[in-house]
Amino acid sequence: MKKVVVIGAGIGGLASAIRLAAKNHQVTVIEQESQPGGKMSEIRAGDFRFDTGPSLLTLPHLVEELFELLGEKAEDYLSIQRLEESCRYFYPEGKRIRAWTSPERFSDELESKLGEPKENTLRYLKKAKRLYHFTADLFIFSSLHRLKTFRNRKTFGTLMRPGLLDPFRSLHQANRRAFQTREAQQIFDRYATYNGSDPFRAPATLKIISHLEHNTGAFFPSGGMYKIASELHQLAMRHGITFQFNTRVESLTTANGKVTGVEAGNQHIPADIVISDIDIHHFKRQFLNQQVQRKERPELSSSALIFFWGMDTQSDETGLHNIFFSSNYMEEFRMLFSQAAISDDPTIYLYISSKMETADAPSGKENWFVMVNAPADSGQNWDNLIERTRRHIISKLEAQLNMEIEKHILVEKRLTPRDIERRTSSEAGALYGSSSNNIFSAFMRHPNFSKQLKGLYFTGGSVHPGGGIPLCLASAKIVSDMIPKE
Ligand code: FAD
Repeated sequence: MKKVVVIGAGIGGLASAIRLAAKNHQVTVIEQESQPGGKMSEIRAGDFRFDTGPSLLTLPHLVEELFELLGEKAEDYLSIQRLEESCRYFYPEGKRIRAWTSPERFSDELESKLGEPKENTLRYLKKAKRLYHFTADLFIFSSLHRLKTFRNRKTFGTLMRPGLLDPFRSLHQANRRAFQTREAQQIFDRYATYNGSDPFRAPATLKIISHLEHNTGAFFPSGGMYKIASELHQLAMRHGITFQFNTRVESLTTANGKVTGVEAGNQHIPADIVISDIDIHHFKRQFLNQQVQRKERPELSSSALIFFWGMDTQSDETGLHNIFFSSNYMEEFRMLFSQAAISDDPTIYLYISSKMETADAPSGKENWFVMVNAPADSGQNWDNLIERTRRHIISKLEAQLNMEIEKHILVEKRLTPRDIERRTSSEAGALYGSSSNNIFSAFMRHPNFSKQLKGLYFTGGSVHPGGGIPLCLASAKIVSDMIPKE
């Protein structure tokens, strides 16, 4: 039985701990905060509860698999519901679309409301499905840094089909060819933001994300997204994994090119294996004493500016997930990634978990999670940006929903890129580690193991295969596949 220390109880850390316990190793998770989840967290304000990180769940079987590995059933603890409608889209000139998860119904909606021929949507989603099945094993569930992966015939076949991978044009260029209407293009461009990227630069390979939402489905767990982190924590505890909260790991201990443990809370904790779930750039600076210059770092994903509003009213026109598009999407992303700024007409994402989970807000009221994409922190004048963006959000929502917003806000909390970095040690507050704004992004993410120190592994959103709940869960699987069973 090997002694394993996991640094950080984010989703990647929790999943790695569970997978290693299932391989009969003795696992300790050390977390600097007082609760598990990392970015997948929650807050309370007055009588309202808010998820503060992820809000959309795809590929829930990756969560369920963790229960099965320890001989339990996820359904005994988590009730995960498949959504019929994944999002409501609001356009500046007044058009509205309901994005049904069923491809049939969604393509009918786009045809009847936008005039987008039904076959365009169906063809696109079919291609996205094919792309997912062709690439997932290689790009999501395998290490790209082990020769073994490339000896496989299927992998070779995947790399030899660049036409199918479609890496040489941007997602937007592909969508402009696939759809006649600007509105449909904008819906499908938006999937680049699911890993914090720019649709005008990220490769068209990212169209696989639309497959996850419209073919395999979008899901919501009763109790809200944080329930996933808290139930994984409980599962881990039931199976003997120990947790030390409010404890910051300060350094690694090593001998003869191998990790021997960590220093945390004035204690030495011996370990044969250390798995880091923390941002790789922070890890390199703090634990390996390597200076990571901004120029050397792959371009970071976007961050977010979020207002949590406890509203004293309910809105009929909104659903669980809502997007209020900007009128100039290209300009919005140019500002975000080239000028590290927020447009005065930002696309707004509104998530209201109390539409599904009534306990999240008192009766007749709603919990609004109002988010705009923000640049990773590079020393901007945030006080100024926050107040200006808040004004723009309110006037846009007022115009779209035909209601006064400010007077209905009972309580407010905020989350900025700086807060995200302070709470989770995520580099500059980036939500998804590095962006996919480059055709080589998939190959540029850090490997899931250390080339310098034996026994050191990396999981979570800043390493291969990238950010977002499903990919963090996949990174835990890749790490666990590298460590033999006891
Ligand atoms: P993290 O969540 O980054 O956790 C790392 C943990 O390590 C933290 O708990 C931190 O406290 C701890 N730590 C750091 N340093 C130390 C140390 N020295 N000692 C001990 N502990 C330490 N994904 C989706 O799939 N769908 C979404 O809808 C979605 N929306 C998002 C919205 C927001 C606002 C945010 C912030 C993220 C969103 N994401 C979404 C992304 C997703 O949340 C992340 O990719 C994922 O949660 C990252 O998990 P992780 O394993 O990398 O660890």
